[in-house]
Amino acid sequence: MTAALDLLDLDPSLTDEERQIRDVVRQLVDDRVRPHVADWYEQGQVPARELAREFGKLGLLGMHLTGYGCAGASAVAYGLACQELEAGDSGLRSLVSVQGSLAMYAIWRYGSGEQKQRWLPSMATGEAIGCFGLTEPDHGSDPASMTTRARRDGDDWVLTGAKMWITNAPIADAAVIWARTDEGVRGFLVPMDTPGVTAREIRRKMSLRASVTGEIALDDVRLPADAQLPEAIGLKAPLSCLTEARYGIVWGAVGAARDCLETTLAYATTRTQFGRPLAGFQLTQAKLADMAVELVKGQLLALHLGRLADAHRLRPEQVSVGKLNNVREALAIARQCRTILGANGVSGEYPIMRHANNLESVLTYEGTSEIHQLVVGQRLTGISAFA
Ligand code: FAD
Repeated sequence: MTAALDLLDLDPSLTDEERQIRDVVRQLVDDRVRPHVADWYEQGQVPARELAREFGKLGLLGMHLTGYGCAGASAVAYGLACQELEAGDSGLRSLVSVQGSLAMYAIWRYGSGEQKQRWLPSMATGEAIGCFGLTEPDHGSDPASMTTRARRDGDDWVLTGAKMWITNAPIADAAVIWARTDEGVRGFLVPMDTPGVTAREIRRKMSLRASVTGEIALDDVRLPADAQLPEAIGLKAPLSCLTEARYGIVWGAVGAARDCLETTLAYATTRTQFGRPLAGFQLTQAKLADMAVELVKGQLLALHLGRLADAHRLRPEQVSVGKLNNVREALAIARQCRTILGANGVSGEYPIMRHANNLESVLTYEGTSEIHQLVVGQRLTGISAFA
């Protein structure tokens, strides 16, 4: 971030390696994303496969995982990469999160040796794209009620059901699908070219338009016994994957907010009304100061959670604190920045409205803000208020 925005001197508290990774990703975003992202967003089309290969070359896919061609980076380094990607666009951070923290993590954590060998190296390079199917048309916040079913037929499994709002589904080579079995929820690794699998793109999204989202229909999909993720027992398996991805969002949301504030600072110091720059009005300075304070608080929170993760001490409800706060505040910053740009704030020539619209999805996916409030509430009170 610009030196002016680093109010708390967080930059020097990063290691040289962390700063280096951040700068490399920032450069990639500057070169490869910023010149095109407004068009991708407007057209609702993004060269996701091409970008995945470029992200793969830099080691950004499954970056925090070890072995199988993954970079084995620290949680903080991964978070910094998410921050830079989302400063470009939440859709690109989503591509990396879903690939690395949902699809790859599920295979890495719960898969068999053969499943890992088959999929992780090609997913790490971006040659293969993965997706993660938990949400269904009728079951979002409450995945325990899922109706997608996997039944045994001899040694095979047969999957029937539908998954909805699945990032990358229309371009994926493989999906991690969560389904109900007689023994409870289990995960399955489903090649997308398996007969009975169809993926349809969801169009007319007003948010995350530079990200491919789809619905997956599973119509008597026959899979061999070894398609099951052997170590994934119960709903806690997909929920652990979500904790991984939410951690990246804690950082990513700050990136989107930072991009809004950097844009706004530059605008407010050059745009003149009533004979002085917008930044010279006290009302504008109050907005800028409040936003910068929230931004650095969000960065401190992300860094703290990252250091906890690297010490293997990060708990899921702490990730909820981070996701709840940082996405909510990033959205508030984006909306406030928009006011300072006046009419230009609604224009696609500036990134602000795009970030604000994207953050509406980020507020909802990976656990809505209400669900994270309930997680924190349960931790505080000892009472589950979900149902
Ligand atoms: P609902 O669960 O129907 O919730 C609607 C509202 O009710 C929300 O405000 C919610 O907070 C509130 N609510 C629900 N239950 C309670 C409660 N107990 N107490 C108080 N309030 C409650 N899913 C995947 O599996 N994989 C993906 O890759 C993926 N990508 C996505 C990409 C995009 C762009 C979007 C928008 C969504 C994606 N999702 C994905 C789905 C996402 O995770 C769900 O939308 C989310 O979990 C919320 O579910 P829902 O939309 O069904 O809302």
